[in-house]
Amino acid sequence: GSVGFAIVGLGKLSLGQLVPGFRNCKKAYLAALVSGSEEKANRVAAEQKLPSRAIYNYADFDRIVADPGIEVVYIVLPNFMHAEYTIRALKAGKHVLCEKPMATTIEDGQRMIAAAKAANRHLMIAYRCHYEPMNLVGMRLLRSGKLGKPRIVVTDMGRQSDLSDPSDAWRLDMKKSGGGALTDMGVYGVNGARYLLNEEPTEVQAWSRTDRNDPRFKEVEDLYAWQFRFPSGAIANGSTSFSYAGTMSWHVMCENGKMTADPGCFYGGNRLTVTGNGVETPQITEIDQFAREMDWMADVVRGRAPMVSTAEEGVQDMRLMEAIMESAAKGGATVATNFGFRRPVDP
Ligand code: NAD
Repeated sequence: GSVGFAIVGLGKLSLGQLVPGFRNCKKAYLAALVSGSEEKANRVAAEQKLPSRAIYNYADFDRIVADPGIEVVYIVLPNFMHAEYTIRALKAGKHVLCEKPMATTIEDGQRMIAAAKAANRHLMIAYRCHYEPMNLVGMRLLRSGKLGKPRIVVTDMGRQSDLSDPSDAWRLDMKKSGGGALTDMGVYGVNGARYLLNEEPTEVQAWSRTDRNDPRFKEVEDLYAWQFRFPSGAIANGSTSFSYAGTMSWHVMCENGKMTADPGCFYGGNRLTVTGNGVETPQITEIDQFAREMDWMADVVRGRAPMVSTAEEGVQDMRLMEAIMESAAKGGATVATNFGFRRPVDP
């Protein structure tokens, strides 16, 4: 049967994409809400026709253990809260889908992995692009070799941030976000370069530029630019910022052609252009990537699909982002990134 999900945190992503996304799910359904706001939870529960016993707050959250209808807990809280709620959900015997970035420290990420192992439950990180048709077409086209070997990947992921928006205020707080634009938006580029190339970088150089007079950047860095080098000889150039116009794009230059995805990682309206070597831009049917991701988690829970976006993948990105921060802090010094990670399944 269908797999019941509890959504923890009713902020922008939950209300804008996830709660509505269940309408497009075939294998997952909304079973419960966890919120600090009784008024908001009651309103959403009424809209979604959930009974009042399906509403939890942060204090009585552990009560989910008694509801067998909740099989997956989806953590959609500010980054610094991911570890605590993931571990509490795992201890309650639930599988966990956790938003990116996995956590704010590598130690927290490792504690989450240990808790999943101890509870014998699945822990999946919500890298939605692994479930999005256009990104999958791009990956498969690169793997097919039709464009030749990839030489350069370029990823640019950023937007203007707004300190007066509560949903951005925690993103501009170092402790709560773990690293500003880099951990919020840049993570799509770090992850993206790896899934496009299907290999792991061996070293990175990075640079940051931040206007400390801008009230948004009292703690976190603003602009980062980096260069990852891969064993195949490919190079990935990335940037992220909380002070440039909204963009989530990636480009791949190969021996015999190139691919441009701009936008490449939006919620909808992504556009892929392929040129060179007689390869035509494939027709791609857009779907609700959030629904597909939640259905995928349901299939993982039922043993019908392999885990694609693993917790180890989450930690790998955290290590790579830490290496970017370290290199930038040293003015672009080369930092080794050979952490021994291998992706288990191609998304
Ligand atoms: P948000 O700020 O809009 O929502 C967070 C919710 O947590 C709010 O309802 C807030 O009230 C609640 N909350 C509880 N305790 C809090 C505290 N101590 N401080 C601040 N808020 C608290 O954030 P969001 O944009 O919904 O992001 C939530 C998570 O989802 C983040 O980890 C983010 O990185 C991730 N996210 C992922 C995507 C994606 O495309 N996969 C998109 C947006 C956000």
